[in-house]
Amino acid sequence: MKKILVIEDETILRENIVALLEAEDFEVIAAENGLVGLKMAISELPDVILCDMMMPELDGYGVLTMLRQEPTTTTTPFIFLTARSTKSDFRQGMELGADDYLTKPFTRAELLKAIAIRLTKQATFKKHLSVETLDVTPREQAITIGLRQALQNQEFEIHYQPQVDLQTGLIFGAESLLRWHHPDLGMVSPAEFIPVAESTGLIIPVGKWVLDTACRQTKIWHDAGFNSLYISVNLSARQFTQPDLSQKIVDTLDSTNLAPRMLKLELTESIIMQDVHNAIAIMKELQAIGVEIAIDDFGTGYSSLNYLKNFPVDILKIDRCFVRNLDQDAKNSAITTAMIHMAHDLNLRVIAEGVETEAELFSLCQQRCDAMQGFFFSRPLPVAEFEKLLIANKRLPIPTAVI
Ligand SMILES: [Mg+2]
Repeated sequence: MKKILVIEDETILRENIVALLEAEDFEVIAAENGLVGLKMAISELPDVILCDMMMPELDGYGVLTMLRQEPTTTTTPFIFLTARSTKSDFRQGMELGADDYLTKPFTRAELLKAIAIRLTKQATFKKHLSVETLDVTPREQAITIGLRQALQNQEFEIHYQPQVDLQTGLIFGAESLLRWHHPDLGMVSPAEFIPVAESTGLIIPVGKWVLDTACRQTKIWHDAGFNSLYISVNLSARQFTQPDLSQKIVDTLDSTNLAPRMLKLELTESIIMQDVHNAIAIMKELQAIGVEIAIDDFGTGYSSLNYLKNFPVDILKIDRCFVRNLDQDAKNSAITTAMIHMAHDLNLRVIAEGVETEAELFSLCQQRCDAMQGFFFSRPLPVAEFEKLLIANKRLPIPTAVI
């Protein structure tokens, strides 16, 4: 039996609709205002929602907006009931994601037809969806739902991976890496939750939190005397294409009081390649603010050597897959040598990622790579542990044969 939720503050109308639908063998639940209706929609998961637009406190627009943000009700068919058939009401409802509308007073036939159409469409949609989401595990569902609460429950933390200069062996910067401690699942890998955050749009508030937190922390370190420390922050595709990205960066730098040149923004090749011309324009805007741009995971995407000379970038980060076994793997060695030479010819600095052994480090030093990060020096660290390295002035022993 299909379940219909009726949210309507006019008692007589509500009772009429309920009686009419029950006579048609629907299971009907009813709410006398928006708040009760919203709670019912989330707890009862009806097949169709009929909702009055004009209600005191939480009106129909409010209910619809909230429902569309909830993963379990985001696609529930929503038909709004309106007394006024003005164009602006109609448009506002449809823009918020309503599926249909009925102007009061409506006939029994109009109501039943609107519901029937929605139920048929939803059945087709679910059929289509189930093919695509067959593989969704309970864990993936928990991640999707948990991610919505994670920010306000303060479940995120940033770890800082030191970046080391290969001339001096000293820490000159850190890459900020997001960590999520889920209350039930424990630590969830960014590889698991970042794609979910991207697809749901949550990456925007989460990304902003990372940027704000990392900049604020770096300013604290500067004030403590480590005032040449750079901070690197990864930008996601969605963040990068926000229309007001550069203004948001400026706002963060202003509010945290961090000098722009101390911030590096890391973009992957694939983000840039989605729309090269637009990306170049955005990167130029960011550089105009004074921040530096790094290309992350270089070599894994489109190996866009051709484009590289046109990109307004400062730093190239060689992906870990080319660094692995660099000392033994002739192909990797040839690739990194070429990348480093080319980058230097273009006046870019090069950071090698994922350096895990002394032999890899030795090869990178021989190739005149500028900097490294990786487990051979340090894994990404929580604030307190990163500070210990700064205070101890931990230094990477540079292989003497190279110097
Ligand atoms: Mg990165």
